[in-house]
Amino acid sequence: MAVIAFIGLGQMGQPMSLNLLKGGHALQVFDVNQLAVDTLVKAGAKGCKTPAEAASGAEFLITMLPNGELVHDVLLGENGAVNTLGQDALVIDMSTIHPLHSDQLVAQMAKLGFQMMDVPVGRTSDQAATGSLLLLAGGSEAQLERARPVLMLMGNELVNTGGPGMGIRVKIVNNYMSIALNALSAETTTLCEALGLDFDVALTVMKGTPANKGHFTTTWPNKVLKGDLSPAFMVDHAHKDIGLALDVANRLHTTLAMGAAARETYNQARADGRGKQDWTSILEHLRETSGLKPRTTAR
Ligand code: NAD
Repeated sequence: MAVIAFIGLGQMGQPMSLNLLKGGHALQVFDVNQLAVDTLVKAGAKGCKTPAEAASGAEFLITMLPNGELVHDVLLGENGAVNTLGQDALVIDMSTIHPLHSDQLVAQMAKLGFQMMDVPVGRTSDQAATGSLLLLAGGSEAQLERARPVLMLMGNELVNTGGPGMGIRVKIVNNYMSIALNALSAETTTLCEALGLDFDVALTVMKGTPANKGHFTTTWPNKVLKGDLSPAFMVDHAHKDIGLALDVANRLHTTLAMGAAARETYNQARADGRGKQDWTSILEHLRETSGLKPRTTAR
């Protein structure tokens, strides 16, 4: 059983650290909120007054904090963990922070001779309580295998994301899509209500279409991902149809900010000569305008 330092005992960190205790590990915990520390001490952890005290003698140091600046402070700031941490310890940042900041921290720690990996988590505090988080592991194979038994006390699914920094990258990508989709779903529902349409009817219709199923597994595989941009449904028509929704929404004083932005993407793709291509070709349009190599030479 290992000695584990755990810093950041909030909504997520508290249940995660409790699961490590249940797994039989010795925990040394720190949080700026003394009440949070007290809860863990009652459960059997050693309460600490600074990150440095928590890190002393630890084999693993886990951080679960609101942002990258705080991760930096607890590791490298005054009374930071590096003052006492052994060089053979493994630092695991499980917070959701800026990926470039994460890279910088891993590099700064490496310069001082410390190993650090990024393992942000998917799901919420409910799954943190039941030890069923989705663990998005960034780091070397060796780090991952070393951390696995500890991580699996907090989650039930571990994804090897492909190397250092990739855990936080996949977390950001996944959150981007989920968060944007939440806003798009709210816009769609508002439009539905403004039009006086029964939401259950709309839901029944959308259940079987890319509106609900998404595009990655429906429209894309046989078209743009195959390099086939011949139109099953043209960019021009997609542009027209989203325009119909935006126009009627405007007349009803309903705001469709995401829809308006999406129409501009279709508009730019048309300006770029893709009007008669399949609507999935907006992927190629965005790749091109982002300076990425096109997947297909079809135009
Ligand atoms: P939280 O605000 O509940 O907890 C953060 C904890 O860090 C608090 O207890 C706070 O007192 C402590 N803290 C702040 N500054 C500190 C410092 N300098 N030293 C020590 N402790 C300090 O946040 P949370 O919901 O537990 O989220 C933690 C991280 O996990 C965030 O990066 C968040 O984005 C991510 N996350 C949250 C969820 C969720 O559902 N809540 C899900 C996945 C990922």
